[in-house]
Amino acid sequence: MTAPILIIGGGLGGLTAALALGRQGRAVRVLEATPELGAIGYGIQLGPNVFPMFARLGLTDALLAQSILPRACVMFDALTGAEVTHIPNEPALRARFGAPYVVIHRVDLHKILLDACRATDTIALEPSTSVTGYTQHGDGVTVTAADGRAISGCALIGADGLRSLVRARIANDGEPKPCGYVAHRTIVPISEVPDGVQRDVSALWIGPRYHMVHYPLRNNTLFNIVAVFRTDTFGDKGDSAFNASEVAHTYATAHPVMKSLLERMDLTRRWVIADRDPVRKWSEGNVTMLGDAAHPALQTFAQGACMAIEDGVTLAAMVDQTDGDFALAFKRYEALRAVRTARVVLEGRRLWEGYHAEGLDRDAWLQSFSERREEDTLACLSWLYNGIKLPIQNKVST
Ligand SMILES: Cc1cc2nc3c(=O)[nH]c(=O)nc-3n(C[C@H](O)[C@H](O)[C@H](O)COP(=O)(O)OP(=O)(O)OC[C@H]3O[C@@H](n4cnc5c(N)ncnc54)[C@H](O)[C@@H]3O)c2cc1C
Repeated sequence: MTAPILIIGGGLGGLTAALALGRQGRAVRVLEATPELGAIGYGIQLGPNVFPMFARLGLTDALLAQSILPRACVMFDALTGAEVTHIPNEPALRARFGAPYVVIHRVDLHKILLDACRATDTIALEPSTSVTGYTQHGDGVTVTAADGRAISGCALIGADGLRSLVRARIANDGEPKPCGYVAHRTIVPISEVPDGVQRDVSALWIGPRYHMVHYPLRNNTLFNIVAVFRTDTFGDKGDSAFNASEVAHTYATAHPVMKSLLERMDLTRRWVIADRDPVRKWSEGNVTMLGDAAHPALQTFAQGACMAIEDGVTLAAMVDQTDGDFALAFKRYEALRAVRTARVVLEGRRLWEGYHAEGLDRDAWLQSFSERREEDTLACLSWLYNGIKLPIQNKVST
């Protein structure tokens, strides 16, 4: 029997790659450190560029069934509450990019991919398998797990997130770069959303050194709220009283609608926001990486998962094209992906400044955002939302 392709990490990127490769009839083992794959999560936004990936995987209907299509993405001025600009959704986005913008519960998205992986005979999902290292040899790769097992495969894909051990070997660029901001995330029943909050849009409130995002989820029964702000303390000790006082101080100037949402947030846990400088080299022989392991970005474009999903499908397409010459496939894959994903990182950093600017700088950004007509905004996003061209797939098993 052919040795399997090993994938470290059963996040959205790892599962997408597993499914796309498994659908070609290739044996895949997904090694995931946590005991349950995809057990936690908040909301996630998906741009139109992700839809052709789901079409390739035969999962468009499943995705749409679990998603919500907000009326529009609206940017609000966090100080005045005024609308600054918006991106329309249906029908304008579909007319321009062939698909809508949707929001979905991450758990539901994960389950769509998990169910499809489970229904594919050649894919083995192995939770509670924490990979500690790997060695490459003539005919493949062997990884070691924390429990002492050695697992061999024909190739290795590091889909192991921001602190990827595969990246540490290939790029050797140390720790991720915190940008000074943290995020709190909460999901509340939509019935608890205070009056004055627009529930049918995906909202982005931009303020000096802080922003907030919110949108509905799961058939309009839930509401996802994300508060992101600059901190000097990072306050990552899980002390919710400290977090609450820091949030109250930071958002003192925010519009009352934002404050009414902040009151409903669980401030126990926070995420440190970080990215990495883009690198061109993602692969070494039969080993490569994808998703946050390869190109973690700030959340400006809300595209990290979308890029991980594009990676997974592209990578599998290159393996198909080279008929299993992994070293060649991985080189082609990284060449196809490097610039696009670097742009998400680098343009994301520049726009992040605009979202959080202060004083006159902020006034200038606000003027620039508000002068954009709908077609200007769509033109600005076309490099991203137009998506990627995938080669025709040769080997597809049903
Ligand atoms: C606040 C916030 C909001 C976001 N919003 C959006 C959004 O709206 N839209 C969007 O597209 N993106 C969004 N993102 C980004 C998105 O979450 C990530 O880019 C995406 O989840 C990356 O997927 P991944 O599969 O590469 O990595 P991950 O999801 O990090 O998965 C990595 C997996 O590898 C496992 N793992 C790690 N190390 C090992 C090991 N040694 N052995 C075995 N398993 C291991 C981990 O347990 C994990 O399951 C957001 C991120 C944040 C922080």
